[in-house]
Amino acid sequence: MQQHIDIAKFTEITPTAPIAVNAHGGRAKCLQRLIRLGMPVPDTVALSFATVRDIASGQLPDINALIGQFGENPLLSVRPSSQDPDWGGPGAILNIGMTDERHAALSKTLGAPAADALYRRFIQSYAVEVAHLDPDSFDTEDIGELLDAYEYEMDEPFPQEPERQLTDVLRSMARAWDGTSARLLRQAKGAPADAGLGLVVQEMALGVGPGESGSGVIQFVDAATGQPQITGRYLSQSQGRDAVTGESGAIYLTRDPRGPSLEDLCPDIFAALIEHGKMCRSRLREEMQVEFTIQAGALSILDAVRLPRLARANVAIAVALAEDGIISQDEAVLRVEPRALPELLHQQVDPRHRRDVVANGIAASPGAATGRIVFSSRAAQQSAAREEPCILVRRETSPEDIRGMHAAIGVLTERGGMTSHAAVIARGLGLPCVVGASTMRLNRRDKTLTAMDGRIFREGDIITLDGTRGEALSGEAPLLEPAIDGAFQTLLGWADAARDIGVRANADTPAEARTARAFAAEGIGLCRTEHMFFDEQRLTVMREMIFADSAGERAAVLERLLPMQRADFIALFEIMRGQPVCIRLLDPPLHEFLPSGREGIRDLAAALNLPIHDVTRRIEALSEFNPMLGMRGVRLGIAIPEIYDMQARAIFEATVESSQDGAPVVPEIMIPLVSAKREVELVKARVDAVAAAVRVETGTDFTYSLGVMVETPRAALRADEIAQNAAFLSFGTNDLTQMAYGLSRDDAGRFMGSYVQQGVFAEDPFHRLDIDGVGELLTIGAERGRHGRPDIVLSICGEHAGDPDSIAFCRAVGFTYVSCSPFRVPVARLAAGRLAIEDRNARNNPA
Ligand code: PEP
Ligand code: MG
Repeated sequence: MQQHIDIAKFTEITPTAPIAVNAHGGRAKCLQRLIRLGMPVPDTVALSFATVRDIASGQLPDINALIGQFGENPLLSVRPSSQDPDWGGPGAILNIGMTDERHAALSKTLGAPAADALYRRFIQSYAVEVAHLDPDSFDTEDIGELLDAYEYEMDEPFPQEPERQLTDVLRSMARAWDGTSARLLRQAKGAPADAGLGLVVQEMALGVGPGESGSGVIQFVDAATGQPQITGRYLSQSQGRDAVTGESGAIYLTRDPRGPSLEDLCPDIFAALIEHGKMCRSRLREEMQVEFTIQAGALSILDAVRLPRLARANVAIAVALAEDGIISQDEAVLRVEPRALPELLHQQVDPRHRRDVVANGIAASPGAATGRIVFSSRAAQQSAAREEPCILVRRETSPEDIRGMHAAIGVLTERGGMTSHAAVIARGLGLPCVVGASTMRLNRRDKTLTAMDGRIFREGDIITLDGTRGEALSGEAPLLEPAIDGAFQTLLGWADAARDIGVRANADTPAEARTARAFAAEGIGLCRTEHMFFDEQRLTVMREMIFADSAGERAAVLERLLPMQRADFIALFEIMRGQPVCIRLLDPPLHEFLPSGREGIRDLAAALNLPIHDVTRRIEALSEFNPMLGMRGVRLGIAIPEIYDMQARAIFEATVESSQDGAPVVPEIMIPLVSAKREVELVKARVDAVAAAVRVETGTDFTYSLGVMVETPRAALRADEIAQNAAFLSFGTNDLTQMAYGLSRDDAGRFMGSYVQQGVFAEDPFHRLDIDGVGELLTIGAERGRHGRPDIVLSICGEHAGDPDSIAFCRAVGFTYVSCSPFRVPVARLAAGRLAIEDRNARNNPA
């Protein structure tokens, strides 16, 4: 390098040059680090974001001075250097400076094939990327033909001045960054609207010519698993990433029985690459992918990027770096995004696979499964009996579909949103689920599904449901297995060590409770008891109870339900031994337990030995215009108190039974959909009376706590007086969101897409807690609740509880715990751990 550089415009990258990620981009900074580590990086100059912005608007730096930074007649490459490599950028352009004259000279020194290769590559990329000509016109090997094609298309000869070439390349890359699609793409990846692009101009290490010359890419761990393994390719007489883009003749790097390797061909260079890799890992504190070139036997390192990897590999890499003392445990936790965890918890469609999408909708429950389409719960159960995996496809699901959902391995619905029935149940079961897939059309009569492109699928056809992306794919797609391995457990253990907010699970069944335990949930924060009644045998008894003509008849039927409920709670207490279990009294409107179709009504009439018209009449009598705002929750408990009496008795008898061997169980009982203090007083009086009765009958003392779900705006506003009769308040943000917005959680899916698209809502508020509105109700509820009862325990149990941003909010408001679907427990643990670490880091390093 010869002369002084104008720092404002471009900066030679030396070990001490002022290069910053936020001024020159990540690639420029990484190259400086490689240079500092003494790696053989060709001369490189960085152009700052400001310079590139100037170039886009027509103000060029001194190009002669820029070229003057390199040796005589240099051949140059230009690569993008955005702040975050994930934000993309225009492709690299190599061999700038190739002209007819250089071509002739290099033909003599390197040989004609090498000189041709250099010139050919440059003409092709200049024509396509810079002059935006049709690639098909430049699909020839012959230099003369390429030059002619350029002249024919552009009405001028191919530019022969290196200054002009470099100017055009810089300008086209600067403008490409400003293009609409590039902007949208990077903003989708989290880039700010004003994200800048830096560029690095580097002297070419040629990779072609006499002696061993070529290029390759090396990485030191497997990108899918994160396990140590040297992979990559090397291709003699090549440049850039040719070795990994499928060109024939590329060889393995390590000795391999399948063919020749770089290790055999150039053992010294191979050994040097391994050393560089180790150095990158320990000093850059990251697993890198290194791009290298060999020219006449000499190694150059052109570039190194953070190894692109699957989420599971990212966890393994972060944990290994921390275990080797290269990064701290806290940093390992911060390196794993909670939102990436579902990819490890469930099967996933291999992202390297080509996708044939037939429908898309809301990604309601992550994971992937391949099975045959069925259109009814009955068909799902029959399919399961034949041991044929099936995907249940419905317009929407209702409680009647529970058994079908249990039998299916995935659920796809045309309607619905994040908190509709199918979504909530599927998340609990850990089944992949896509809801609101309005791009498909269901014809229930013909039993067909018409895909977005018009293809018709019938019952029995195979599809793959991708609940992580919210898509249904035609046929069988290759799946990756879950990766709940040692590294995963270790990382979550480190997050737990930092965490300062509790994480419980919403679990209704023994299977869900076991999942909750396996994921180290600190108890059950919400057991929705209604889900215990959908078993076929119980459903009939439940229906008898609903149809009871008198209080006496009802009491007799409840008597039959009691032992079933008691057994449910004993099972939960046993599985969760030593941890709290919070049980919610019955919540949904009763008609949800009744059949809707003609067939179901006929079956019920037969089971209850009643005339069909009687059954129909009763169902009609129970139907409501607005069931979500009707007789449900505590209203049911007050109107038909025997139901809650039975549930309270079942809980207390189970408490006595489960406390006999081991630590005493202290159940938590929760009243849903409260809006007035008096509701709590009435229910509390009855529950206390049942407790007293069970104490006397069993001769055993026990304690319990009674709390309230805050699900109506009024409950939040009146939390002060409500808290006087409640040991805890649990915010049910599904209903609270529904009621705060006046937005039906079962119907909002229909227009949510267009609302989000048009920016009415930044996000689906059933998915991401609306901090501004619903959040204010939470803050008010928490403040007033504490005022009414200073030791009140506060928590959230709506679906938002598993969302990292909502957890941040709940933590800031001072909640004791969050309670989410069992499969979201790891996400919540990691998110909460990261928040505590970030807070600690901010305290230790105030800006
Ligand atoms: C809620 O409303 O947030 C809640 C947890 O209850 P559910 O989803 O059962 O209505
Ligand atoms: Mg609710």
